[in-house]
Amino acid sequence: MNPIKKFDFTPILGWSVSRYDTFTTCRRRYYYTYYAKFDPEYSADKINRLKKMTSIPLEVGNIVHDIIKVLLERLRKTDQQIDGRRFYDYARKITGQYCQKTFSEIYYNEIQQLDIDDIYESVRLNLSNLLNSQRFMWLLQNAIKHKDQWVIEPPGYGQTVIRGLKAYCKVDFLFPVDDVLYIMDWKTGKADQTKHSKQMVGYSAWAAFHFDHAPERIRPIIAYLKPDYAEETLSVSQSDTDRFADIVENETREMYAYCANIEENIPKEKSLFEKTNVSIFCDYCNFRELCR
Ligand code: SF4
Repeated sequence: MNPIKKFDFTPILGWSVSRYDTFTTCRRRYYYTYYAKFDPEYSADKINRLKKMTSIPLEVGNIVHDIIKVLLERLRKTDQQIDGRRFYDYARKITGQYCQKTFSEIYYNEIQQLDIDDIYESVRLNLSNLLNSQRFMWLLQNAIKHKDQWVIEPPGYGQTVIRGLKAYCKVDFLFPVDDVLYIMDWKTGKADQTKHSKQMVGYSAWAAFHFDHAPERIRPIIAYLKPDYAEETLSVSQSDTDRFADIVENETREMYAYCANIEENIPKEKSLFEKTNVSIFCDYCNFRELCR
């Protein structure tokens, strides 16, 4: 497979599912997330400290993703059997380390302290569901043959170009079996068909761009790790990829409309980035103390 293409830095904004999701959820949240250094009211330090806070569901996802990454990297190096006890001891240790971060639930006094055992139990269930799945067995029997070509959470942000526009689509795990490129995305939260399918078509576009592969021979798989292991396999055609490019183009233009300078990615004035009226979005927002 070709190496992943590299890009020179440009300040112009790049589309991503999460960027546009933030943009549609609340324009003010979008401003705080992407334009902290331009804020006339609060220091960038303060905004970025709030932005960096994690939450219990988010952190379970981070821990599970990072441990699966280590697991796949190990499989790439050695075919020795996984020692279950050591593997889960490692998962427990990592959980303890990651729980040292600032959690929004603590910061906003929703809970007094973290229940690390409970968080670990969730991590353990996600991991054991994957390890006991038929897909994992299939990986060991089929995908392992081409392990030298595995792409495991590539470094960087997954930059690509879609119809001449900058976009980010970072895959969890990509590997070839015969002439098909498989892309697996681990999900530790609830299924969200529309959002996740859009994300997966983006990953296919990323793979098609970087590896010059026909979309029809790219198979994205959404792997839900909890409560039980379940998958959704998508088939992506050239017309899906074209439709996706239309969406990226439209959504990018919508976000450009909030830039005073598009090329330099400088935002218009803060007051144009309105606060949402949907109170449930605020209930889980890291920036809620700035909006009271
Ligand atoms: S607290 Fe509500 S209004 Fe303020 S940034 Fe967050 S989602 Fe937007």
